[in-house]
Amino acid sequence: MVSRVIPVEEFDLVIFGGTGDLARRKILPGLFRRFLSGQMPAGSRIIGAARSELDNAGYRKMISEAIAEFGGKESSNTKGLEGFLQQLEYVAIDARGEGGWRDLAQLVRDDVVQAFYFSVAPSLFGDLAERLHTNKIANKNSRIVVEKPFGRDLESARALNETLAAHFHERQIYRIDHYLGKETVQNLMAVRFGNMLFEPLWNNHYVDHIQITVAETVGVGGRGAYYDKSGAMRDMVQNHLMQLLCLIAMEPPGQFEADAVRDEKLKVIRALQPIDHHHIVRGQYDAGPDGPSYREDAENERSFTESFIAMRCHIANWRWAGVPFYIRTGKRMKARSSEITVVFKDLGHTIFEGDEARHRNILSIRLQPNEGMDLQVTIKEPGPGGMRLIDVPLDMTFADALGDTVEDVADAYERLIMDVIRGNQTLFMRGDEVEAAWRWTDPLIEGWEARNDVPKIYDAGSSGPDDALMLMHRDGRKWRDIKG
Ligand code: NAP
Repeated sequence: MVSRVIPVEEFDLVIFGGTGDLARRKILPGLFRRFLSGQMPAGSRIIGAARSELDNAGYRKMISEAIAEFGGKESSNTKGLEGFLQQLEYVAIDARGEGGWRDLAQLVRDDVVQAFYFSVAPSLFGDLAERLHTNKIANKNSRIVVEKPFGRDLESARALNETLAAHFHERQIYRIDHYLGKETVQNLMAVRFGNMLFEPLWNNHYVDHIQITVAETVGVGGRGAYYDKSGAMRDMVQNHLMQLLCLIAMEPPGQFEADAVRDEKLKVIRALQPIDHHHIVRGQYDAGPDGPSYREDAENERSFTESFIAMRCHIANWRWAGVPFYIRTGKRMKARSSEITVVFKDLGHTIFEGDEARHRNILSIRLQPNEGMDLQVTIKEPGPGGMRLIDVPLDMTFADALGDTVEDVADAYERLIMDVIRGNQTLFMRGDEVEAAWRWTDPLIEGWEARNDVPKIYDAGSSGPDDALMLMHRDGRKWRDIKG
């Protein structure tokens, strides 16, 4: 099967922070892959911009090294790389000063799609937005892309929204949450809204509960000081996990269109009930054979910041009343795994004699590793010997179903950047969504700060603190095993 590449219009993409970690690890290797698959029209340009004094040749060398390191198997395509590098340029610019802006103004064209990726600290967003305007570089169709974190609470997110709104219309602002660019996340919408099978069951009559787990094996080493001011709630829950929750719980939008989808997601966030602190478990990893403790990584012996969080949430609407959503995320866990699991209710009655087992249909949607979905169904165990029932997965793993094309499936970043060029905001967060998410998380954070809540210590390489297991055990349920 050959994957279909939808061409985009010619563009100028300026990457502020073009020498930074994100640009080198994700953005440029991703763009290189899009170039190889023919999605970058001739004449399009990628313009790196940062303070470092580099010329085009120096920047191209930097990016070719980055692609060699992070570009995967495509990086050996030297002819392709040569062609890609020719479309790269560089401007030395200071977001806070005047240097470089005139050069950029001369470079960026008005008659092609213009996009500006703010891959810099959020404290520079305002300066960039303002200078793009005062130097008459941006026009009313330019797009800007901003990275997480989008604020650290409601107040700062509002301020950031206002700063951007002073120069750009909401339809020009693309707030990235790369989880939304993942193939499986979009497939979740296809499965829900493209099949007759699931939607009638997608409610409190048939669903017992839903679990969302995002587990990482890495700790916070290297960025401990930054992370210690943030914690799992701000770093992961307020954005990635809440976005996944929205997609799994939202009502079908009238059409697959940016505002229709985002309106429905917003309604989910607004329907989230406040959470009692008994239904929140915060944890910090201990030292293990593979590394130091959280507090050592954070270089803060008195840190109360959580590297793990588990919560039981409820969505107060007709569809989900009474259905708990258990969400958890943590660092230094036993495996790297992101999964959404929909656990359907028990059968009301079994007709099979001697069958004491509880057979439940379980739909699991894996984001990483091995993106894919499977549905656990009950069947008769093959062979003679009577009616014995077993549970087997109906596997919808993309690698099996789609063969080689899965290799070509765009990484989240490259897909999202191409959506920016196409002007499609469906997979980007709207300003009111981000604010609503902070409005829900702020009181929870304030609650534990006011209580001086001390996170539970958990073993590195485990599934998190025992209290998180108890959170579900108390309800007669259990977490899915975290498998890499
Ligand atoms: P980084 O490695 O520190 O890079 C920052 C970039 O900004 C560099 O290119 C730096 O280059 C440039 N810069 C700094 N001050 C500047 C100024 N005054 N004017 C112009 N350019 C300036 O940071 P990063 O990890 O790439 O992160 C960039 C953004 O993405 C941050 O908002 C971060 O939170 C977000 N993010 C990063 C990741 C990731 O995996 N790295 C993931 C999610 C979100 P010069 O020093 O040469 O100016």
